[in-house]
Amino acid sequence: MTKVPNILWLAEIRKDDLPSVGGKGASLGEMTSVGLPVPNAFVVTAQAFRRYIEDAKIDTEIFSLLSGLDVENSDLLEKTAADVKGIVMKTPVPDGIREDIICSYMTMGDDVVVAVRSSATAEDLPDASFAGQQDTYLNIKGVDALVEAVQMCWASLYGARAIYYRAKQGFDDSIVDIAVVVQILIRSEKAGVLFSSHPVTGEPTSIVEGSWGLGEAVVSGMVSPDNYVYDQRSRRVVDRYIATKKVEILPDGEHGTKEVSVSPERQEAPVLSDDEIAALAKFGKVSELHYGVPQDVEWSIVGDTIYVLQSRPITTIVGNTGVVQEMESTGDILLEGQGASPGIATGRVVIVTTVKDLGRINDGDIMVAKMTNPDMVPGMRKVSAIITDEGGMTCHAAIVSRELGTPAVVGTKNATHVLKEGDIVTVDGEKGIVFEGAVALAQEDAPAVAVAAAAPIITATSVKVNVSLAEAAARAAATGADGVGLLRIEHMILGLGKTPGWYIRNDKEEDFITELYDGIKVVLDAFPGKPVWVRTLDAPTDEFRNMEGGEDEPEEHNPMLGWRGIRRDLQQTEQFRLQVEVFKRLWSQGYSNMGLMFPLVGHPDEFIQAKQMLAGWGVDVENTTLGIMVEIPSSALMIDEFIAAGINFASFGTNDLIQYTLAIDRNNQNVADMYFPKHPAVLKLIKYAIERCREGGVECSICGQAGSDPEMVEWLIKTGISSVSSNIDAVQKIRVTAARTEQRMILDMARR
Ligand code: PEP
Ligand code: MG
Repeated sequence: MTKVPNILWLAEIRKDDLPSVGGKGASLGEMTSVGLPVPNAFVVTAQAFRRYIEDAKIDTEIFSLLSGLDVENSDLLEKTAADVKGIVMKTPVPDGIREDIICSYMTMGDDVVVAVRSSATAEDLPDASFAGQQDTYLNIKGVDALVEAVQMCWASLYGARAIYYRAKQGFDDSIVDIAVVVQILIRSEKAGVLFSSHPVTGEPTSIVEGSWGLGEAVVSGMVSPDNYVYDQRSRRVVDRYIATKKVEILPDGEHGTKEVSVSPERQEAPVLSDDEIAALAKFGKVSELHYGVPQDVEWSIVGDTIYVLQSRPITTIVGNTGVVQEMESTGDILLEGQGASPGIATGRVVIVTTVKDLGRINDGDIMVAKMTNPDMVPGMRKVSAIITDEGGMTCHAAIVSRELGTPAVVGTKNATHVLKEGDIVTVDGEKGIVFEGAVALAQEDAPAVAVAAAAPIITATSVKVNVSLAEAAARAAATGADGVGLLRIEHMILGLGKTPGWYIRNDKEEDFITELYDGIKVVLDAFPGKPVWVRTLDAPTDEFRNMEGGEDEPEEHNPMLGWRGIRRDLQQTEQFRLQVEVFKRLWSQGYSNMGLMFPLVGHPDEFIQAKQMLAGWGVDVENTTLGIMVEIPSSALMIDEFIAAGINFASFGTNDLIQYTLAIDRNNQNVADMYFPKHPAVLKLIKYAIERCREGGVECSICGQAGSDPEMVEWLIKTGISSVSSNIDAVQKIRVTAARTEQRMILDMARR
């Protein structure tokens, strides 16, 4: 067998060289081979490291210290790690290896500045992201500093955190080697990361994040970067969020890096142009196509030149910043609640009691509130996670955070007491857990979802998506959903800060109409030609109370059972008429794909009355798609009469249907345990209504939270539902469930 040299250059490396050059080295070599613009580099091979520990006879000493180590004993772990690292640092690098490193370095040019990065042989494998477990040294110049940095990388293989992770992942310390990548340091003017496909849904949407200076500022989570969403199908930037980038990391003289403040005019300026975003997305795609799975790519730009620094499979997705946190923490669980919006984020706690508190929120903080209100949405847009005392999966905080793609844990009962302003916590929005400190967590099912989405899935059952905020329209459309099964317009109205009554009383009707028109139009434009069911206003009186004009809202004992949905519009016809004016203007602009859905309808007469009012205001009701939400048991039981009254569709609003069938307030955490979506009585009502709709030839759908639950959707499809509408984060898994259920049904039928 040929002996692997101490040094390999990127041009000589392919992915099969992973045992010699580690995950990072193999990936850089492979990326170079497909023409990606990787900065020049050589790798000090794993064999060089092995020769070093074997020749110096420190291998036995190291592995005997590590063997059988109780990694849960943190004092012992820290001490052993320090001992082993000490052994490595005091053992001189053999002359042969030293010369090879120096020679290769000199070939790169005179006194070039390099980045020295660890590349462990168990790193960046598809099933185990070891990212960040070993060290990286930036801005290294000169031969002595370089050799020392290589040695420090070797020693970092035995850092406490690295030993701990290997033990947890079942890797034997004695067989894990480390290679070191020595790469020309790119003095990036801007840098960041990109996901070649959407990291949660796997749709062909690239997410690019960038900030000023070296990429470490983004990767370490020090700044909230700009966030750009690029749709590969339309080749357009479909969403962008320009963050306030207060600091950047720059090389510091001859060694290391420094953190400097960004000038005020650059703080708010976009980091990337559309052309740069498109070019970055293209490089991401090249890498994804090459590796066959979605990639997480580090990039950097100097002048007009783009560099790709790293590409690895998406295995760890953290919150909406995409930042992998590398930290030490006790990891103690502080709070548990309901995981209302998936994702993981770490940040500083800000306790929000009233709107005035929003001023204290900085990008990336974690909002902690009793419950969120519509007037808190501007703050919710900035935070990296949301935690509430109250609420369930369908409360305001849950709905809005899912739309914003922000991790959320709701119904923790006492977050506002347990957490203190300034605490650092980590939120797991999937499992509903809040941990003390910064904890490195991997999001479990994201890669499977991303990979599953690589091929389009065709289902006979339409899989649609729910939308509430105009700004979520692009993300919703990026799921490839077959339309919008529920557009909740009250979130658009509540976000205005004033009640509809205020606009009417202050002769500002045109302002109201314009705002609502613009918001709905954004969603319609994101779904050209696909059905979009817009629901008329359904806001309980308590949600209006904090708004301007809300003083006049009646005090209701139980707003959920009160003046909301179609019952209010039928009494407050002015409010209804304003909404209808918006719909009419949209239809007149050619948006014939827009249908209307009436909420909280309990009797067919209400539907008939609403339809008559529309006709009275000039709507061609016979050629308009009009349907109802089935949210009250009475509407399920009287579905035949609704069909006779001319509904075009019925959609289960299970959030309400469950609470009204079981008498469980959906926002009351004291009875949350009894809120049981699959309760036989609920299923009985749904089954009955589906069967009657099928018989009557009326489309039957679901847009409540249960439509995002794969088990429930399987049952609904088997029962005969025609479409389902899910939350943005659930569309992909629901599509997979639908396809699987349909195929199973066909198979079963064929077998019979
Ligand atoms: C429902 O009740 O299931 C529903 C979708 O409506 P909302 O959650 O807005 O009440
Ligand atoms: Mg409802």
